Amino acid sequence: MDTKAFKRSLQKSDNYHRKGFGHETEVMGTMNTEYQSSLIQKIRENNYQWQEGNVTIKLAEAFGFCWGVERAVAMAYETRQHFPQEKIWITNEIIHNPSVNQRLQEMNVGFIEVVNGSKDFSVVEAGDVVILPAFGASVTEMQLLNDKGCTIVDTTCPWVSKVWNSVEKHKKKDYTSIIHGKYRHEETVATSSFAGTYLVVLNLKEAQYVCDYIMNGGNKEEFLDKFKNAHSEGFDPDQDLIRLGVANQTTMLKSETEQIGKLFETTLMKKYGPTELNQHFMSFNTICDATQERQDAMLNLVEEDVDVMVVIGGFNSSNTTHLQEISIEKEIISYHIDSEKRILLGNQIEHKPLDKEIETQGNWLPEGQIVVGVTSGASTPDKVVEAVIERIFEEKNASVLV
Ligand code: SF4
Repeated sequence: MDTKAFKRSLQKSDNYHRKGFGHETEVMGTMNTEYQSSLIQKIRENNYQWQEGNVTIKLAEAFGFCWGVERAVAMAYETRQHFPQEKIWITNEIIHNPSVNQRLQEMNVGFIEVVNGSKDFSVVEAGDVVILPAFGASVTEMQLLNDKGCTIVDTTCPWVSKVWNSVEKHKKKDYTSIIHGKYRHEETVATSSFAGTYLVVLNLKEAQYVCDYIMNGGNKEEFLDKFKNAHSEGFDPDQDLIRLGVANQTTMLKSETEQIGKLFETTLMKKYGPTELNQHFMSFNTICDATQERQDAMLNLVEEDVDVMVVIGGFNSSNTTHLQEISIEKEIISYHIDSEKRILLGNQIEHKPLDKEIETQGNWLPEGQIVVGVTSGASTPDKVVEAVIERIFEEKNASVLV
């Protein structure tokens, strides 16, 4: 399919909307009430620190809702206002935050269910309104919804669209797109649907494996097995690793995306020589500012004297997981939770260690005076961060009174 031509024609359709509907002021008022927090505002004004009893909270200087998420949620609220009678669906969680998704359900926005590993669009009928989330939707989904005669409200973050434009450029020039991301993540699924030939690499280790193959060749079967589900149909490592462009899932670790880009660049330079590099390598800067700012703020926070780190965000939120990785790398004890409900009575916490299932930890808040570092992913409202901080104060300061 000519994905670029399809997108262009979709954008001209009267049934396609990618801007709000003129209810911004009203919606912003509602969102401020539902998601903003006066405590967090006070902490920001107090140089990102706050002490109560035995606990000092140190907040990262950039955290929580990013511009793209705020925009997507506002557009979803506006859609409800603008289409009060119509059935409204969303192709996925609007963002990776349980409280925001629950709020949309309360507003009667239906989520397309996944049945036996695929989304069940049979519930969607002509005339229904369908919202595409901040991390986008695959071109096949867009086409299906368009063919069904739905009204599409596209909240895809412009940073994500920028990546799609990059892979379109790779495709136009017959370059293979190397996508740094998680091949199952909705954003990467969407990005790869716009790519021609592509390969998704998760991390530097996988990128190194691909670069070794480029330099020295290797076992093709092993290669294809290793990247099963992470490449385009018919991908052939002997033919498709000669001209490469690098793209990324916007929420990956910025430093790792940069290292991966450099690794492919130097590998192709070694293989073909510096004068030929432009014929073999293409790269555009598509790291989103918000991801970068939050990761930089976390890198500063882990340099402070922090006893315990709490990282707040959906368990399936990629950018939140990367914030936790930064803490782990610094050997700071770190707990990834998705809401204040995970902080249980009796100094216990239910949390998700990196790459493991949720578990419960006792005595998680150390004795005596402590400093707790706090940050949150780009999909987490300030209200949730406030609730977590309040639970920490309650839990810790209650133990002093016992
Ligand atoms: S993290 Fe970046 S790419 Fe993702 S929604 Fe926010 S601003 Fe957009």
